[in-house]
Amino acid sequence: MQDRTLAGKANSAARECDALIRLDRISKSYGASEILKDIALHVGKGEFVSILGPSGSGKSTLFNIISGLVPADEGTVHVNGQIGYMQQKDLLLPWKTVLDNIVLALDLKGQDKKASRAKAEALIDRIGLRGYERKYPSELSGGMKQRASFLRTFLASGEIMLLDEPFGALDSITKSNMQTWLLEMQKALGITILFITHDIEEAILLSDRIYVLSSRPGVLKEELEVGFNRENKRERLVNPELLIMKEAIKGLL
Ligand code: ADP
Ligand code: MG
Repeated sequence: MQDRTLAGKANSAARECDALIRLDRISKSYGASEILKDIALHVGKGEFVSILGPSGSGKSTLFNIISGLVPADEGTVHVNGQIGYMQQKDLLLPWKTVLDNIVLALDLKGQDKKASRAKAEALIDRIGLRGYERKYPSELSGGMKQRASFLRTFLASGEIMLLDEPFGALDSITKSNMQTWLLEMQKALGITILFITHDIEEAILLSDRIYVLSSRPGVLKEELEVGFNRENKRERLVNPELLIMKEAIKGLL
């Protein structure tokens, strides 16, 4: 039998040159506690890359650094394109309708309101919210709210999306539907995704590559390529390779 773990070890230097995101030796402390240490990673155009790590390992901090919300103490961040950042606690404004929430970032940028709404309307079917445009967030299910947040982030970004545990709060059935939906959206919209999760199976299901982050301080333990069922990632769920990779990752954490 082939050693899948080693086969899965990424040799991605060739793709590094046309990366849309590249981090070099990023370190960050808060006071005396070292949160991230020496993080280097890259995300190529059209890739789905996950950062997998336990809670408190500095994943959200890393996204805050990539998006420029928080400065790193050391290291460099290169971003080549427009980033949209869906934060872990990305709440919709309860007093605005779904459509107004979706176009919020565009409105804040001062873009033409009619044009923004037309852009959102054109994608509302794709996120399954047709008929809900004029409803308020409290009238939506958890999955619907996540899809509305996703579209808001997408419209504000375009080509690169940072998604911080977007399905963390969903029940397993909704989560599974949303994962399928996200893969379809990525294909349809041609976007590059950097995704945070603490769910090993979710990382394997969705990703082309996975960076495994350990905690205290967060250091990259491993970079893994998910080489099987790349064309139809849903099939990974019934592929025994998923279990093998899952066990290998568990051993790292
Ligand atoms: P994760 O997203 O992996 O759960 P975070 O990046 O949210 O981890 O947090 C990593 C650590 O950094 C935690 O111990 C958290 O308390 C700490 N931390 C995050 N933001 C701040 C901040 N603004 N000030 C002080 N400590 C922080
Ligand atoms: Mg977090």
